[in-house]
Amino acid sequence: MGMAKKVVIVGGVAAGASAAARLRRMDEDAQIIMVERGEYISFANCGLPYYVGGVIKKRERLLIQTPRSMFKRFNIEVRNNSEVEQINPQEKEIVIKNTLEGDSYRESYDYLVLCPGAAPIIPNIPGINQPNVFSVRNVPDSDRIKQYIEMNEPKTAVIIGGGFVGLEMAEMLYECNLDVCIVEAADQLMGPLDPEMAAIVHSYLRSQDIELCLGDQAISMEGSDLVESVILASGRKVPADIVILGIGVKPEVGLATNAGLAIGSTGGILVDEYLRTSDPFIYAAGDAIQIKDFVTGQDSLLPLASPANRQGWLIANNLCHRPIKYTGAQGTAIVKIMDQTVAVTGKNEKTLRKLGIPYQACHAQPNSHATYYPGSSVMTAKLLFDTQDGKVLGAQIVGRDGVDKRIDVIATAIRAGMTVFDLQELELAYAPPFSSAKDPVNMLAYAASNIVNRDIEVIQWPDVPKRVMEGAFLIDARTAKEFERGTVDGAHNIPVDEVRARIDEIPKDKEVLVYCGQGLRSYIVNRILRPKGYDVKNISGGYGLYQYQI
Ligand code: FAD
Repeated sequence: MGMAKKVVIVGGVAAGASAAARLRRMDEDAQIIMVERGEYISFANCGLPYYVGGVIKKRERLLIQTPRSMFKRFNIEVRNNSEVEQINPQEKEIVIKNTLEGDSYRESYDYLVLCPGAAPIIPNIPGINQPNVFSVRNVPDSDRIKQYIEMNEPKTAVIIGGGFVGLEMAEMLYECNLDVCIVEAADQLMGPLDPEMAAIVHSYLRSQDIELCLGDQAISMEGSDLVESVILASGRKVPADIVILGIGVKPEVGLATNAGLAIGSTGGILVDEYLRTSDPFIYAAGDAIQIKDFVTGQDSLLPLASPANRQGWLIANNLCHRPIKYTGAQGTAIVKIMDQTVAVTGKNEKTLRKLGIPYQACHAQPNSHATYYPGSSVMTAKLLFDTQDGKVLGAQIVGRDGVDKRIDVIATAIRAGMTVFDLQELELAYAPPFSSAKDPVNMLAYAASNIVNRDIEVIQWPDVPKRVMEGAFLIDARTAKEFERGTVDGAHNIPVDEVRARIDEIPKDKEVLVYCGQGLRSYIVNRILRPKGYDVKNISGGYGLYQYQI
């Protein structure tokens, strides 16, 4: 029998704790040391906003494991309040500083596993260091925010950054009865969404009296001892008794860089398919590493908990002679915003266009379950797929109920390399309280397959005005009543059931663009006109999608 190996893990939260626990289960004899800069290990960072907002009431619920429980169950030696300051790869040694006492010492390793995560981006603007400006990374951060709210009873909050964490914090502060304003430099919240899907989120948030400053940037913060207002690039001054930063994170690569480890083009630690760094005895996982995008194969950063856990687990296997390749991540993510759910997986249209990958997009607005059973709600779903073979490339869904389940089905399909024709065939659980006999995923798949099969051509709303200017004939195929309640400028109302009788009104020498409420009735119109030789196209998403864009 050889000597037991000594593995030191840097970082004790998602990837680190996952690696440590799996390693112990794979190797009862290994010496495992987990070094964590903070006081806490294995805490639920994803739960932090909900602790701030009081949804999670007990602080200890955030602490999934403690150094003591980690030792008792896994015989893992946890050194918290300990920062790894330096790696000496030649000596296979690290320098650890005790952050309470200030003293440093050396520790040797056979293998080192780097799981240092990513640090919040703090913009360098005046006022940023005031005590009522917070970022949210760990338990002490959320303690500070909670305490500040309790002691100072702020009335107004500015959230800088409209990503997932920013939105969760916005909801929580709103629930604490603060007036909330979200400032986002891009033209839309939630970067992973395409603009027309983000527009639904904007409309919803505004309806809840959350203020949005889009396409604007915080350039300074005013106030004497505390920030009192945030000044935006546009000149706007937004009152702020508390400011939360949610601009994003950057991989913590200082240690790796100083040790001479290779860093990838995206700024994350470079690893091979076994998650080994450029040093054969050092592995790395989690928010700190550069990964391959599962759909496109591109290098990317993806600071999400599920990939971090997977990677940590995988490294443990690789250290125990059960090599498994990491196949990349596809960016499946979900966020709750009050009673709405927003979820994404795979690539969005913006990225596909930028990369020049041939794709088509379709939208559907199915109900979460059969409408005749009480309580159903409409979701807006977008599917992206390969134009040629129909391979599923990505999806985005916004709605109230059942969004999580549909995105997960599509995420699974992407992982399996399935096409829209495969999605049609999925037999998904159905009874009226849960779904419809054609599940929303099937509905999307049928719509998408019609496009791949060239039974229908689609056009997206942003392309419509130009076409109409060039002479396209726009048909609103909804009923006269719906038409009266609101329509698109220049549209001709020819309800689906009247199309055959009124076909002479539709010019044959012009491009014809048709929409209805959600795309189903206009699809029928397309199927009537197309065999007759009309140059007809369906406007994806119909008026249901259009109304959010204005
Ligand atoms: P971390 O969990 O950040 O752990 C890294 C640890 O390493 C830190 O505790 C740090 O102190 C320690 N460390 C760093 N350098 C050193 C050093 N030199 N010496 C010792 N220790 C060191 N993801 C989702 O998928 N879904 C969500 O809903 C979600 N919500 C989130 C909400 C919030 C508020 C935050 C902050 C993140 C959220 N995430 C979410 C992201 C998710 O938490 C991260 O992707 C995940 O924690 C990454 O794991 P990690 O192990 O790489 O890094």
